[in-house]
Amino acid sequence: MKKLLFALLVVGSPLWAADFQAGMAKIKITPPTPFWMSGYGGRTNQSIGVLQDLWARALALRDAKGHRIVIVTTDLIGLHPGVSDPVFARARKQFKLDRADLLLCCSHTHSGPVVGMNLNVMFDFSADEKRRVLDYSAQLTDNIVKAIGDALNDLSPAHLATGNGSVGFAINRRQRTDSGNIVLGVNPTGPVDHDVPVLKVTSPDGKLRAILFGYACHCTTISTKGKDPSDFYRIHGDYAGQAEEELEKRHPGAVAMFTILCGADQNPNPRGSLELAVEHGQALAAEVNRVLDTGLRAVRGPIRTACQIIQLDFAPHTRQTFEDEIKNSQDPKRPNKFLARRARMMLDAYDKGKPIRQTPYPVQAIRFGNDLSIIALGGEVVVDYQLRAKREFPGENLMAVGFANDVMCYIPTARVLGEGGYEAEFSMVYYGQPGPFAETVEEKVFRAIRSVMAKAGAR
Ligand SMILES: [Zn+2]
Repeated sequence: MKKLLFALLVVGSPLWAADFQAGMAKIKITPPTPFWMSGYGGRTNQSIGVLQDLWARALALRDAKGHRIVIVTTDLIGLHPGVSDPVFARARKQFKLDRADLLLCCSHTHSGPVVGMNLNVMFDFSADEKRRVLDYSAQLTDNIVKAIGDALNDLSPAHLATGNGSVGFAINRRQRTDSGNIVLGVNPTGPVDHDVPVLKVTSPDGKLRAILFGYACHCTTISTKGKDPSDFYRIHGDYAGQAEEELEKRHPGAVAMFTILCGADQNPNPRGSLELAVEHGQALAAEVNRVLDTGLRAVRGPIRTACQIIQLDFAPHTRQTFEDEIKNSQDPKRPNKFLARRARMMLDAYDKGKPIRQTPYPVQAIRFGNDLSIIALGGEVVVDYQLRAKREFPGENLMAVGFANDVMCYIPTARVLGEGGYEAEFSMVYYGQPGPFAETVEEKVFRAIRSVMAKAGAR
């Protein structure tokens, strides 16, 4: 009996969690000025300055058995495979990190640089501009690999703990008009998830070393309605960058890492100015600080991971689909250069005998014993996925990261696909994808989620 009691005490003790090692790194990834900014089709010129530096931050963790993972967050719109694929390849070669053991996240700030050829239908670059974008992406790839290496070199004993907060500024943006169409607006009765999951990393003496936190909401607070409308053309991390800055100021020496969750159909409310981005960032940082000080649960190992790349099918299309689209895009009453560009890309693919019918899609799970499970989904994932994942895994402490590893387009659920609107349809034009997904998209993603969660489950 005494022996059993002793064993229970040891297992229940926070000291058990010091079996982790943790390392951090932080590298500046602010683009040069001027630079093309990404996220809004309406910007007419390049950046004119920097309001806030952008960062890549890395957290390396190793459990008692030596299993290592690295989580990278970036103050960027999203990672194009032109960046993430070479990062995965180099991390495997240089650091022996499996794809499943590396998670690349972003904040989805709309006040950052163009990344690779992500959203390339939005732009019509000159040869020189294209070269500068690709140069920045090459530098970004180097910086992310360096951050991963630096974090792995920084490993030292650490305690992990987790908790959950909530902030209310995210609002569903799929507004139904009187005529029944879905437009980008505000939908106070639409689905939201205001949870703020927090992972706290401390050294054995209790010093805070890293905070990983997330929120399901677009980083689209800044536009032209602030005190200085030209802020729209200045580099900034939006509310997420503000929250990271506040937390790092409050906890000198610690690294504050934000990742967007499944917030593809969520906007900050109210929005429109730098001042509001600062306000939302401060609210988020204050909530994370509150969580850090109250009721955290210890996170224990082992770390288990799994990753699957599935293929998601687009709805059927023919060459005629895009020939018609070119004609429609030239309607003198409503010319649409984006539609024309996408149609030309698709006809090119037909000409090469390789029409685009599917997209590869990464689904990853990183699980810490029975204490925390990160599900990481590629693309701009709508909040339904996060809400359904919580319903499907009711006993799990879940952090459902979206926009992870590769942002190829929006990922609607069957509901969103059925309703239509920007996330289901027109966004696919900007991403250079052939059109809406087939109806199977949600079930395919959930099959993969169940599979990686099982593979990374306790044995
Ligand atoms: Zn977006």
